[in-house]
Amino acid sequence: MFTVETFGKVFIIYVVCYLLYIIYYAVGLYQFNPFVKLKPLSDAEKAILSEHFPFYDRLPNIYKERCNSRIVWFRSKKKFVFYGNVNRREELKLVLSASAVMMTLGLKNFRMMRSLLRIIIYPSQYYSRIKKRHHLGEYNPKFKTVIFSADRIWDGFEVLDDNVNLAMHEFAHVLCFEMSGKRSWEARRFRVGLKKIRALFEEEAFRLKLVESNYFREYGMTNLHEFFSVASENYFETPSIFHKDFPELFYIIQRMLNFDFEVSCIINPFSADDEKQHL
Ligand SMILES: [Zn+2]
Repeated sequence: MFTVETFGKVFIIYVVCYLLYIIYYAVGLYQFNPFVKLKPLSDAEKAILSEHFPFYDRLPNIYKERCNSRIVWFRSKKKFVFYGNVNRREELKLVLSASAVMMTLGLKNFRMMRSLLRIIIYPSQYYSRIKKRHHLGEYNPKFKTVIFSADRIWDGFEVLDDNVNLAMHEFAHVLCFEMSGKRSWEARRFRVGLKKIRALFEEEAFRLKLVESNYFREYGMTNLHEFFSVASENYFETPSIFHKDFPELFYIIQRMLNFDFEVSCIINPFSADDEKQHL
């Protein structure tokens, strides 16, 4: 018989299960879930990385190992959400994780815990309710969410030296937010760099050089943060030209990221202890 007592028990079980689910979900979202398995990179996945990130093959072994284990961490712990008919989902998770990790390879803290919980991917251009217009990608610091359109991510990797890379662009925004107000030494170093870029960006002669050279996308002229994101795309895709044409800015970004993509090298290497902690 279905008595009040049975109903009470069922209700309590339901509430307990629901609470457990909420806790499980929250823990997973905040990247502390111990049950998430870290799946190592397969040879096929490493081949995809070599194809899309030519600099991956040039990495010295020690950095390559760090790069691989960080990609595995990022891919397993961040929440990827796909909307609509998005193809090649596993590949997208791989290249996006790799983009975030390569941008922060010279930093001890690559996990973007303060700034990034979710990565949302639409098949193509989507309507942004936040900005009330159609969008190809955006970062929303309030919701710690970065949003991409899959076709533009692939466009970014199609030509590897055209200085257009949506993944790098958006992760540069995420990194700026991650570093703002943080007390670590590398975050301070990052903010000092951003201040120097602001000073350059506001200099009339520098702006003139930017416009005349055509090296950076025009969109970078929108504001300081867009300029940093656009410059990060260039720093990543054509570091030698960047170094030659805009050395001052090149060295600022090199110091901010503690990584030189031209020579695939960390500027200030970690100590052996740090190396273990920050893999
Ligand atoms: Zn932007």
